[in-house]
Amino acid sequence: MKIGITTTVPVEIILAAGHIPVDLNNVFITGNNPGHLVEEAEIAGYPRNVCSWIKGLYSTVLKNKDIRTVIAVTQGDCSNTHALMETLELAGIEVIPFAFPFDRDPDLLRLQMEKLMQHLGTDYETVQATKTKLDQIRRRVWHIDLMTWRENVVHGVENHLFQVNCSDFKGDPDTFAGEVDEFIAEAKTREPDRKNLRIGYIGVPPIMGDLYDYLESRGGRVVFNETQRQFSMPYHTEDMVEQYRLYTYPYGIFFRLNDINKEIDRRKIDGIIHYAQSFCYRQIEDLIIRQKIKIPVLTIEGDKPNKLDARTKMRIDSFLEMLR
Ligand code: SF4
Repeated sequence: MKIGITTTVPVEIILAAGHIPVDLNNVFITGNNPGHLVEEAEIAGYPRNVCSWIKGLYSTVLKNKDIRTVIAVTQGDCSNTHALMETLELAGIEVIPFAFPFDRDPDLLRLQMEKLMQHLGTDYETVQATKTKLDQIRRRVWHIDLMTWRENVVHGVENHLFQVNCSDFKGDPDTFAGEVDEFIAEAKTREPDRKNLRIGYIGVPPIMGDLYDYLESRGGRVVFNETQRQFSMPYHTEDMVEQYRLYTYPYGIFFRLNDINKEIDRRKIDGIIHYAQSFCYRQIEDLIIRQKIKIPVLTIEGDKPNKLDARTKMRIDSFLEMLR
């Protein structure tokens, strides 16, 4: 069966149990009319001042009748997920909670994984074998990341897409692996881009579709996608609990900042774009980010799934000009 996920969870367990993981965020944002899904949630009663991702996820589940079960991350992602779960339950969807312990406690994390294995009907050996297989694909996606910042032959949006798809491997790891290989072979034939400014993107993935293209049209290429890179589990370890402890996204801003600052140095980044989603509690963390990152930071905000507005474009232009 198809199992919806609200953010990255130990996907190995879903696949090992013989199910198909579906990252609801990816289905929502790549659909024909994501703006309409947000409106549908508002018509159903979701308040206007709630993040559009949450509203999009709600309508996506209701619209895709083959998704009857959702794994919702109740700790380590989004406080709005609690109400999302409740409204989905009301609509007859089975909701399985999963929590990343805030203090990265390995015992609690292991317990969460074991409970998920038990619930879905699989065992540790099968999960470990699945991890070994997925790690091979992840390594190839790491290579795409390397081709982005070191070889300079991959566009920021391509880097974003391949990494973000590691949350569910598009529901079919073998086919996804083929797409990755095909892309690497094609990208190898490209001329390196060394003229553009080197931009780091941090924060949740953008809800507007044209950010990367706009940046490149103005002379800035994204060579680091912070959260998306985390979906590819960029630190090698054989131990699955450790893998999801090293994964920074669910564990607070200071843990994330260690990774961000290391990558700023390694990738020789000129400036950071911090994306903040309207009505997201993570906006508050911007004040910490500004103190702890020592290169210029531009914070931009997105609300509905559409294009960059004129004001944000102007701010991006000024930021790039200042970096230059
Ligand atoms: S952007 Fe923020 S509020 Fe929206 S779903 Fe993500 S964590 Fe939640």
